[in-house]
Amino acid sequence: MSQAMSKAPPRGESYLIRKYFQRAEAATVRLGIGDDAAIIDCDGARLVVSADTMVEGSHFFKGDAASDIGYKALATAASDLAAMGTQPQWALLCLSLPSNDENWVKGFAEGFFEMAGPYAIALIGGDMTRGPLSCSVQVMGTTSETCMRRDAALSGHGIYLTGHIAMAGFANQHAQALAQQDPKLLEQCTARYKRPEPRITESQIIAQYAPCAIDISDGVLMDLSRILEASDKGAEVALDQMPFAAGFERYCPDSDTILKVLSHGEDYELLFTMDDAHYPALQKAWGNNPLPLTRIGTITEQPDMRCTYKNQAVELPELLGYDHFASP
Ligand code: ADP
Ligand code: MG
Repeated sequence: MSQAMSKAPPRGESYLIRKYFQRAEAATVRLGIGDDAAIIDCDGARLVVSADTMVEGSHFFKGDAASDIGYKALATAASDLAAMGTQPQWALLCLSLPSNDENWVKGFAEGFFEMAGPYAIALIGGDMTRGPLSCSVQVMGTTSETCMRRDAALSGHGIYLTGHIAMAGFANQHAQALAQQDPKLLEQCTARYKRPEPRITESQIIAQYAPCAIDISDGVLMDLSRILEASDKGAEVALDQMPFAAGFERYCPDSDTILKVLSHGEDYELLFTMDDAHYPALQKAWGNNPLPLTRIGTITEQPDMRCTYKNQAVELPELLGYDHFASP
């Protein structure tokens, strides 16, 4: 069953951004609104910039540890640069706090710098205000010509995913069953929701072979549809090829349960499209990285999304993933 590309919810995120914020771009803007990050010309250098906000109730829950929130705030922002194949080098942090709870701030900073440390991301500024709990992180890096973009998918190219998908979705939708039958797996899934791992190192390898990528924040199919829309292409996707972690099969016995768990998002894995002829070279460059690389489908010229499950066509729901404004 096919899915037209214009299934974004009315007055959803994309609609509001396009209608009210997308304007003519300055000559220095190489890539503006619409991709995971913007690319701007800066005196010969090319700067890649992105910002992300996290708010209580949507991106984290009331009692979540401050250190996990700090970690996740930087990780999710950095993931958007990974989607471009760019190494984040600098960050700005804007925090809105209900009070000056020093313990909370200490924990948040610990988590933030735990994420920043291994990638040498420097915190260079930001803002602090009193208000409802939320945090925004802006990240920046530089790039050469080889940036991956959402609008660069080519028909015939393979669609690939890094890592295991829907871990956060499983933690969210199957918590009770996992707690009873597989508490260790639940722990792994919860860890992935609390401390996502942006594929920063891997993305720079992928960018040597793939012209097109996105990071999975709102659901594999929703984020793939953003690539298809930007590239004016379609896709054939095999739902039974989704790289679930071992032990998940019994929770997803059919296409409906798969579609549901995929729609949660918060994976922060990379979805990229690439000429399959590059796969052996990519695999070689991957070395002994244990993170799996999985081919889940093919880009097509006909601009719609067709999904199959065990070779049978699958009807797709109206909303493929998470949209903050799907309901008013
Ligand atoms: P992501 O999920 O990768 O962070 P979003 O879906 O949040 O991307 O945003 C899609 C695109 O719209 C991005 O290019 C982002 O920079 C841009 N964007 C989001 N909100 C705004 C806004 N308020 N003003 C201008 N551009 C925005
Ligand atoms: Mg993104």
